[in-house]
Formats: sequence, structure tokens, C-alpha cells
Amino acid sequence: MSKGKVLVIDDEYGIRSGVDQILTLEGYEVAQAETGQEALAALDRQPFDIALIDYRLPDTDGLTLLQAIRKRKLDIMTCMITAYANIETAIAATRQGIDFFLPKPFSPEDLIGVTETLIRHKLLRKEAEELKKAHEASLLALASEKSQTHSLVTSLRDAVLVVNRTGEVVLANPAMGKLLRKEEDRLLRKPAAEVLAAEPFAPIRAALGQATGENTVFEIEMGDQQFMVSLTPFHSERREVLGHIATISDISEVRRLALEKSRFIRTMIHEFRSPMGAVKSILEVALDKSMGDGLEPYLPLLDRAEKRLDGLVELIGNLLSLSKIEVEGKKKVAFEPVDASAAVKEVIDLYREKMQARNLRVEVRVEPGMPRIAVPADDLRTLLVNLIGNAVKYNRDGGTVGVQAGRLDGKARIDVADTGLGIQAQNLPHIFDDFFREKRKETRDIEGNGLGLAIVKRLVERSSGKIEVQSTEGVGSTFSVYLPLNPSR
Ligand code: ADP
Repeated sequence: MSKGKVLVIDDEYGIRSGVDQILTLEGYEVAQAETGQEALAALDRQPFDIALIDYRLPDTDGLTLLQAIRKRKLDIMTCMITAYANIETAIAATRQGIDFFLPKPFSPEDLIGVTETLIRHKLLRKEAEELKKAHEASLLALASEKSQTHSLVTSLRDAVLVVNRTGEVVLANPAMGKLLRKEEDRLLRKPAAEVLAAEPFAPIRAALGQATGENTVFEIEMGDQQFMVSLTPFHSERREVLGHIATISDISEVRRLALEKSRFIRTMIHEFRSPMGAVKSILEVALDKSMGDGLEPYLPLLDRAEKRLDGLVELIGNLLSLSKIEVEGKKKVAFEPVDASAAVKEVIDLYREKMQARNLRVEVRVEPGMPRIAVPADDLRTLLVNLIGNAVKYNRDGGTVGVQAGRLDGKARIDVADTGLGIQAQNLPHIFDDFFREKRKETRDIEGNGLGLAIVKRLVERSSGKIEVQSTEGVGSTFSVYLPLNPSR
């Protein structure tokens, strides 16, 4: 393999062939050109590592040729060989990017030395260029990584503040800006103690001040909002603490839900305890034979105990329904659409005996040819059992229970109406809350646990439907449910 390709451009035959011989012996591949034109033609034909250019050529001068070579943007080292080297030529050639000068006459050693130097320079130049490219690529990668991190931090819902070792803010995301009511850019380079000067942030200031190097998590409050603060140190490779990242997350909603859950559990325990207490005292009366040896006097009490136990069984059933709805969440369960008419009839039949006992009239009207309702059959049944059950339970003796089903704006609308006690206007907004029951003397003796309508609302909503109520105290109530229809009947 040759050590490199050299083009010698000189009009003097002696120089051309001398250079050719010396360099070929040294292991270079040499080509000759007598004129500028020949030289350019050779350069256009194949790549060279070195061009040795005579300053005086028959058709042009070395500088003009050098310019033409530079224009071609070739990866080539250039060396001017001239007997007329003067300072001006040297400056002009250097300006045009000549790499070396070799004054004539030169010895074979001079020529070999210069050629070797040029080849080495070319190699170094190539390496330098590759290094530069690699450096630029890694800079680019770093920049894109930085911008990715930046957009990630920017889009976070949690507020993020990065504080350096001297306690200065070096990064704050928009969520932090919002929390501190300042544009995030205006937080930069400020002392963290100043940025977090407000009273609610005192624990963060204190924690930053102590800076144990450990991860710390604690809570703070601002007005009626609760936040969780996580303070994480970041380290250098030598494990020195370089600063801290503070993340502040709004946990108000989580807290509210947790509180709601614990309230629910407390009410539930109460709902269990009171019937169990009642049944226990009835059993004590019976066991003590406080009302004599005969069974007869105890029968009303035992009847009462049975009712309370029925209530307990119903409560358990309702709690199971609620927990099932919660577990299933919003996920779509496979189901067959149901026929409204059949579903209404089935539930009315369930209450027929109770309605007769209280002399209630029932009016059912289902639009003929109504498409099926696109909800699970069990959901529709539970919903009707609760609404029709309430229309019976909260009715007056001799009143009416009306059930109407039809189409409205592409949806199914089911109305369950009664001519009973009605609901007090101020209680209407709470009627669907868990365990809510109206406390009125008219409803005092009516058994219930206040979960029926809460279940109905959840069932309706998980099928993308809605429920409304209209009621007048002492006149009656109408519950209207809107549900999706099955498009293909
Ligand atoms: P429950 O009937 O077991 O108490 P619900 O959740 O079904 O529980 O109903 C909650 C409350 O709403 C009832 O306690 C009652 O005060 C009121 N309510 C529900 N339906 C009617 C109705 N048709 N007429 C009058 N009040 C009703």
C-alpha cells in the first residue's frame, strides 16, 4: 500500500521526474502535471493527498492554481515549491490556505521530510475534524436531552423547585410559579429562603436549612389545601450534596376522598350498631321473660326484631352493591340490552302484594315498539327496585305509583312517580348522597338506610345516563332516569 498520493505540478521536467523518483522510492504514488490545466484535470480525475505546486507555471501562477484547488474543497495538503519565494508571495499563499513552503533547490531529504510532515498533518487534520464532529454530536445529544428534561419538568402537574448548594433557585417549573404566584423565570437565581418566604413554606425552608442529605417527605397546608413535599438531595459523583429538588404535590383531593371514606365507614358502623342494639334488647326482654311466660306478648317485639334484621340484610346487600360498582369502576362489562317493558313488569310484580296491602293504584305505560335499553339487566333491575320501592314506601295509603317509559331525544326516559310524602326542597340537593335520609316525623317509621338512591345514581352514571328528581312536599315525587338506547333495537 502506498504511503500517499502526490501530484507534482511543475513545468520543469527535471524537477517533476526527480520528485517522482525520490517519492516513488519512498513508497508514495506520484503523478505529474506540467501546467495548471493538467493539474486541475488530474485533481478532478482522482483524489490526492498532497499537491506540490510550482509558483511559476506556463499557463497560470501558483496562487491562482491554489485558489482553484481550494474552490474544489478537496481534502488535500498543498505545498508551494518555488525558487522565487519572497515574503509577499508567502503571505498571499498563506492567506489562500497553503500548508507548506519548500524553496528550490531542495535536497531529497528536504522533500521526503516535507512530504512526511504533510501526510502527518493531513491525518491529524482528519482526526481533528472527526473529533469535532463527535463533539458536536454529543453536544447536540446533550442539548436534546436537556430540552427533553426541560419539557418533562415543565409539563409536570407537581410543582418542582431545584435549589443549588448555596441555596439559590436554579430551576422552577410553571406549576411552582403558579403556586408561588410568580412567573417561574423570576424565581431563578433568587435565594430559596426568599422565594419560599410565605408562612406555609416555613417547614420547607427549615428542611433545606438542615439539609441532611437524606430524602425527606412531609406535609404542609395552605388555606384549605394540603400538599405533600418531597425533598431529595442530588449528589456529585463523589457523593457531595450539590443541591436539593423539592417537589410539592397537591393532595387535597386524595385527602378529601380519604376523609369521605372514613366518614362513610363511621356512618356504616352506626347503621350496623343501631339495629343490632335494638335486636339485642328485644332478645334480652324475651330471655328475661319480663312480660311473662306466654309467647303472645312478645310477638310484636319479635316482629320488630325481624324487621330490624331485614333492614340489616338490606344494608349488607346495598353495601355489597356499592363495593361492586366501585370495583368495576368505569370498565365496560359485556351485557345484553334489556327490554324496558319486561323489566318494569318484573319489578312491579315484586311489589304487587305490598301495593295491594296499602291500597295503591299502579299505572304503567311503556311506549310501544320501544328499543331495548343499553344497560346491564341487573343494573336496570336494581335501579327499578329502588325507585319503585321508594314510590311504594314513601306513598300514602290509597295513592298512585306511576311508571312511564319512552324515547326522548334518542335516549330512554323512565319516570317513576308517586303521590306520597314528597321531599323538602332544601333536601333535594342531598337526596343522592350516601346514607342521606330525610328526618321528618312522616318518614321516621319508614325503614331504610339511605343508600338506595346513591346506588341508583352511580349505576345510571356509569352507563353515561343521568337522573333527575322533581318533588313537592306533601304532594309527591317523580324520578326521571335517562339511559342509552340500543341502536339496533
Ligand atoms: P332509603 O329509602 O333507604 O332511606 P334512599 O337512598 O332510597 O334510601 O332514599 C334516600 C332518602 O330520600 C329517603 O330516606 C327519603 O327521605 C327520600 N326519598 C327517596 N325516594 C323518595 C320518594 N319517592 N318520596 C319521598 N322521599 C323519598
